[in-house]
Amino acid sequence: MHRTLSALGASLALALALAAAPVARAAPVELRVWRLDCGDLRMNDASPLSDAGDYAGQSRRLVDGCYLVQHGADYLLWDAGLPAAVLGKPLDAQPISPTLAADLPSQLARIKVRPDQIGRLAISHYHFDHVGQAATFPKATLMIGAADWTALHAAKTPFGAEPALLAPWLTGGGAVDPVEGDRDVFGDGSVVILAAPGHTPGETALLVKLHDTGPIILSGDVVHLQAQWDLHAVPSWNTERADSLASMDRLSRLAKTLKARIIVQHDPADVGVLATFPAASR
Ligand SMILES: [Zn+2]
Repeated sequence: MHRTLSALGASLALALALAAAPVARAAPVELRVWRLDCGDLRMNDASPLSDAGDYAGQSRRLVDGCYLVQHGADYLLWDAGLPAAVLGKPLDAQPISPTLAADLPSQLARIKVRPDQIGRLAISHYHFDHVGQAATFPKATLMIGAADWTALHAAKTPFGAEPALLAPWLTGGGAVDPVEGDRDVFGDGSVVILAAPGHTPGETALLVKLHDTGPIILSGDVVHLQAQWDLHAVPSWNTERADSLASMDRLSRLAKTLKARIIVQHDPADVGVLATFPAASR
């Protein structure tokens, strides 16, 4: 009884001391996002962008964005773009023709970031145009939707995946953090991986609550073009049609409640939303 009372007294004294002290508010952690150029894709046949025929007989130019997120002293790279094998490749008449103007290490060097400073490589999904240069960061912990990680271990390689691009983690013993549901990456709500399955089983998007720019959501491939929100266009190569529509609905509703801007990573019209590299958005 006596001990309980003195413990109570001690906590009361502490509470009073805290109440009397000026409100100490921790300075918000430095948060910056750079958009990196991870390639261009010419879809000479854009019809796979909709299983309802919205793009039949059409072509489209897509871009491929990667995003470096700095949270205090930590760096997270969101997506790893097209493989360096297509550096300088001329666009051709293939149904999907990819090319890359500059690789990630050369762009990172311009902002004085070494590949080994990137502690987390978070990928929206396993497609080749999102993991192309992943192996440049073999020491990073790979964060990937758990269902995508499982799919990569299936006997049949999933459509659009090239497991060799993820060799440091699939066979090399690199650290993997399979993400189930949403994940608050740094524990302060500022950078959150959002579950958005449908394009692939473990597709994700990324919410970053920038201080000056306001919250942004990096789309992954939940859509490929802004026009797809209104069309409800589900690409024919998506793994689950109903999940795809549900994930589009989730992201657009989240953007409304958070007053967030969704950046569609493949849409050329969204390249200019963030600061032009090497500048960063804050
Ligand atoms: Zn994709």
